[in-house]
Amino acid sequence: VFASALQIAIGAIAAPAFSVGCATTRGPAPQRLVTLREGPLELRVEVPALRAKLVDEVTRALPAIAARLGRHDLVPRARVLLRFHSGVDGFVQATGQHASHLRAWAGYDTVDLLPPDTWRVQTRSALVERVTHELCHTAIYQRLGDERRARALVPPFFFDEGTCSVTALQGARRMPVDGAVAHLGDVNPFRDRGLAAANPAVAYAASHHAMAEVARIAGPLAFAHVIDRVRDAADGSREDVHGPDRNALHDRWRGAIEGVTGADVDAIWARAIRSVGAPPDVSAGDLRENPQSSSTRRIAVVNDE
Ligand SMILES: [Zn+2]
Repeated sequence: VFASALQIAIGAIAAPAFSVGCATTRGPAPQRLVTLREGPLELRVEVPALRAKLVDEVTRALPAIAARLGRHDLVPRARVLLRFHSGVDGFVQATGQHASHLRAWAGYDTVDLLPPDTWRVQTRSALVERVTHELCHTAIYQRLGDERRARALVPPFFFDEGTCSVTALQGARRMPVDGAVAHLGDVNPFRDRGLAAANPAVAYAASHHAMAEVARIAGPLAFAHVIDRVRDAADGSREDVHGPDRNALHDRWRGAIEGVTGADVDAIWARAIRSVGAPPDVSAGDLRENPQSSSTRRIAVVNDE
């Protein structure tokens, strides 16, 4: 059943050096490092030896993960290290992130995860959604170019999080659009540069619904086309050296969306608000995703729940 996920290497490696120097560690814990492939998707999956079953769980989830990414042409182009930590200490040391609600952290070609038994929802579906979501972030960054280029062109919150929420099919976990509108009032998430700071649950929901509408208008490849527009427009510029003005960058992503959809973002958001059939609100009150404001978050690195 799961033969399409090719497991090509299994081995034991020493724990990475970040445990050295920590007075509370008892020496390096063994890890398992496995390469998994599903079509063009290639992952290095690192799990603590005591959680070796995680490899099987990821292997079983991989076809669904690859299908969701593939539908939007957002399979990471370079191999991604998917690193499950045995606990908070390793996660914090690897990511530098201390916030207690964090469960995942994505960079250019690395995804750090706390073990699923620390997740609020621990189903197979949750694993598919979370890994898809994080790999989507890496795919966006890699599609922008090399890591330096990706840092210079990092998308605004609404695109980064909305695209990956839609790609991972997380609509049922988001507040419905009318709930988001009740909080946002007249604010259009496409135009709000401080979207993530005030209310993360609303920000994730609004971003999801905004980008879902973009996909309804321009199809599942809309996100990839937006990324390509931003990348191509920046080719030949010096922005990969100094980075552009952040407001200008926000406007550039918004403009790329308008170019791909042929619609003004105010019209897109108005359509999103009118859209019917939004999934029921199953968990909006318990969403603990914690975006940082776009002005303070580390470039090309995001955090989730
Ligand atoms: Zn995210």
